[in-house]
Amino acid sequence: MPSSASWSIVVHGGSGRMMRGTTAPEIDTVYRAGLRTALVKGGAVLASGGDAVSAVEAAVRVLEDDPHFNAGRGAVFTAEGHIELDAAIMAGETGAAGAVAGVTRTKNPVSLARAVMENTPHVLLARDGADAFSIVQGLEQADPGWFRVEARWQALQAMRAAAARGESLFDKTLKYGTVGAVARDTAGHLAAATSTGGLTGKRWGRIGDSPLIGAGTWADDRSVAISATGSGEDFIRIAAAHEISARVRLLGEIPQTAADQVLTELRAINGDGGVIFAGHDGCSGWSFNTPSMLRGRLVAGGDVTVAIYDDE
Ligand code: ASP
Repeated sequence: MPSSASWSIVVHGGSGRMMRGTTAPEIDTVYRAGLRTALVKGGAVLASGGDAVSAVEAAVRVLEDDPHFNAGRGAVFTAEGHIELDAAIMAGETGAAGAVAGVTRTKNPVSLARAVMENTPHVLLARDGADAFSIVQGLEQADPGWFRVEARWQALQAMRAAAARGESLFDKTLKYGTVGAVARDTAGHLAAATSTGGLTGKRWGRIGDSPLIGAGTWADDRSVAISATGSGEDFIRIAAAHEISARVRLLGEIPQTAADQVLTELRAINGDGGVIFAGHDGCSGWSFNTPSMLRGRLVAGGDVTVAIYDDE
């Protein structure tokens, strides 16, 4: 077993099609800076002896507040021009989990997910009810305009124009931007959290994998903590996060192998995306099948590393 004094945190800011050479340098820079800030914040929680749940919440809150990521402020728009946010959090020590789907006014949906986990007997609350619960919990509220970022609005307009030309409104090859974090604390406990605006142009109350425990978010101290990003429907179909955990726990695979295998299965059903993991054995990392995944890691005693492209 690894040293129980070690801790680690991994974050992601979505997988997609950013290409080296075609991505504007300033875009590259702001994404790396956001990931770095999230790691420093989450790492500070762990370095001071804080628990993994608090660390992943802190890291995800940073990325929700950063308008460049598709979570919290900066989330994508639905087909009707609204913002509907999904988030989940899970504690590997106890199996406790909380999630929200389609919330519209909570500044930091990951904290609402944590409130569901800690202050209700439920796991998943949705839409109006979840919005109302957020107020009861005294969580910070924001007007719809606070979440709005012009580039996301323009992305919806482009999609509407494409739809007017007869192209599909739902395009799963679009750029993603979901955020997530996984951590292992000094006590060896694991946690995972994911937060997203979902997909541009989603409609009919569509919910992806992010808030579904076992699909886009999972943590089990016996195996791994996982946060996923990508074409959510495909992650749901193969219960991706739980599947990785099950391979580690039941087949004895190391987390990297299990994650790679499940990403291969995802590819087989034309799914796109990636996962980050923190293992019970102290290892951590990621696996993805897209040209890029915004990602980074900080391990006790180490330096922050961030990466975007598949060749780094
Ligand atoms: N997986 C998310 C969803 O389907 C999207 C993403 O990762 O960007 O809602």
